[in-house]
Amino acid sequence: MSDLKYCQGPECHTHQTQDRIKGPKGNKTYQTRRRSSFYYGNGNFCSLWCQTQWFNKFGNQAIDHFGRLTEPKKLTEQNAWYKSYDWRSNTDEHNYYSFNSLTKEQRPLTEAQYNDTSYTLNER
Ligand SMILES: [Zn+2]
Repeated sequence: MSDLKYCQGPECHTHQTQDRIKGPKGNKTYQTRRRSSFYYGNGNFCSLWCQTQWFNKFGNQAIDHFGRLTEPKKLTEQNAWYKSYDWRSNTDEHNYYSFNSLTKEQRPLTEAQYNDTSYTLNER
């Protein structure tokens, strides 16, 4: 019934902190941290150190499993658009635009287009 989960750090239990000591008197052990939520690694690790230790132990296997890059990924002119605006202090009408970070071309946007997260000049 508990939603508690364990930190996935392979060496979490070896970090000797008071909160990791569990068990009855005379039989205490340092144990992997268990919490309802963690901040690191998509909620899988209690600390950056535990996340780093996981990566040091399993990172190469994970990259090989999911696909190691063997050539550079490329951001092209067709996909280098991002949205921005010039803020105008004397009005609510800000100057919205799309900006191509490769060509430096700028195209006007309406405020609705700016706020529409699915609107983009980038090709899919
Ligand atoms: Zn941990």
